[in-house]
Amino acid sequence: MTSKSLNASDKTALLTKFRQLVGASHVLTQDSKTRRFRKGMRTGEGKVLAVIQPGSLLEQWHIMKAAIEANCIVIMQAANTGLTGGSTPDGDDYDRDIVLINTLRLKGIQLINEGKQVVCLPGATLDALEQKLLPLDREPHSVIGSSCIGASVLGGVCNNSGGALVRRGPAYTEMALYASVNEQGELTLINHLGIELGETPEEILSRLESASYEATDIDNDSGRAASDPAYAEHVRQIDAPTPARFNADPSRLYEASGSAGKVGVFAVRLDTYEKEPSDVYYIGSNNPDDLTEIRRHLLTQLPDLPIAGEYIHRGAFDMGEKYGKDSFLFINKFGTAKVPSAFALKSRIDAFFERFGLRSVTDHIIQQLMNILPSHLPKRMRDYRERYEHHLLLRVSKKSSTASNEFLDTYFKDKEGSYFKCDDEEGRKAFLHRFAIAGAAIRYRDTHRRQVE
Ligand SMILES: Cc1cc2nc3c(=O)[nH]c(=O)nc-3n(C[C@H](O)[C@H](O)[C@H](O)COP(=O)(O)OP(=O)(O)OC[C@H]3O[C@@H](n4cnc5c(N)ncnc54)[C@H](O)[C@@H]3O)c2cc1C
Repeated sequence: MTSKSLNASDKTALLTKFRQLVGASHVLTQDSKTRRFRKGMRTGEGKVLAVIQPGSLLEQWHIMKAAIEANCIVIMQAANTGLTGGSTPDGDDYDRDIVLINTLRLKGIQLINEGKQVVCLPGATLDALEQKLLPLDREPHSVIGSSCIGASVLGGVCNNSGGALVRRGPAYTEMALYASVNEQGELTLINHLGIELGETPEEILSRLESASYEATDIDNDSGRAASDPAYAEHVRQIDAPTPARFNADPSRLYEASGSAGKVGVFAVRLDTYEKEPSDVYYIGSNNPDDLTEIRRHLLTQLPDLPIAGEYIHRGAFDMGEKYGKDSFLFINKFGTAKVPSAFALKSRIDAFFERFGLRSVTDHIIQQLMNILPSHLPKRMRDYRERYEHHLLLRVSKKSSTASNEFLDTYFKDKEGSYFKCDDEEGRKAFLHRFAIAGAAIRYRDTHRRQVE
């Protein structure tokens, strides 16, 4: 591959420009400082020319423009919790220099249409949106595992996140403000937010950031969707030849949605949802066909679709119980707000030890401590782990709870499998355990580097 990297003086000039645009403290170039942005949560790691953290949408625009004019690769990043790659470089064999733009300083959340919709800037987190909607008795589309660790609203849209959400499906919108590079190689700004904000990038971006628009500037008849309008129907097609949900499903790719970094997004407009009281059922079986039967029934025979469903195999249960214990206990004790700073601290400590060739030091220490502690999971879940290989967590609306209960009673009457209705604490802990499993695989790898690639 022919390298089109910048020469030393062009690099210096570009870095100087970045510093003028966002301030020197928001342009990171040292390996130890850029590490937590360059290294993916599960996959991907590579070198970058700089990590830039713009403080306004206009700064984001100017940084993107400068990087593209200098023929650099731009990687967009929010909380860097993505598990499928794309949030960081992957390897060191790129043909051009990489500028990584991390958007976490751009936290704005604007409620519109009485909170039935929301406009989120690139660094707005799911957790912050959840808190903002709480007084309205509403919630965001995505109430997903990584809400706990600071995942952004926008990263979710770019990744079509949220596959466990049976009714709503993956995060999706056709209303976004984004920039893409045209055929002439120029960056152009496209406003499909359905909000009248002016003509020039400067005007559009500053008016949006300061929420300088009126209700009359909001177009509610554009025909563009702010969530996936068809998923609830789609997921009921249980005899279709393709699954309802798979990565990079072309029907879920629309401008910002599913773009995974291929465009630079400045804001998305999304629907919000009325909060709904729910019950959690914990189902166990040694026969996977049971889960298929249950899924088919729940998706077609109940008045309402279930809210969310998560599968756990016994092997994953065990891995989460052992290697996800610290995440579980931390969130259980301190809540979610402190998690991003705990992750940042962990990364700084690991970066320090990596200078001496020691990898994953914090993981080894934390894991040794966790190994001493007894199991943290509710007794009924642990009993099910002994009895059953396959576990299904099911969250259903209270409205459908009786029908779900009756169905499960009848279904398991002459079967080996079984179920129980969780109390509030069990339900919360069951889903928290499922979340901890996602991180547990990473901990396992980091503490077993000789056995795992
Ligand atoms: C422990 C754990 C649990 C998880 N649980 C779930 C779960 O329950 N459900 C689920 O769906 N996922 C889950 N995930 C995966 C991940 O958290 C989600 O994909 C999340 O939505 C990503 O958000 P983020 O802010 O971290 O985005 P990032 O990882 O920073 O970015 C994700 C993608 O979006 C792009 N992007 C970000 N910002 C912009 C921008 N401004 N412009 C253009 N592109 C941009 C990036 O380039 C990247 O391709 C989990 C991850 C972990 C580590």
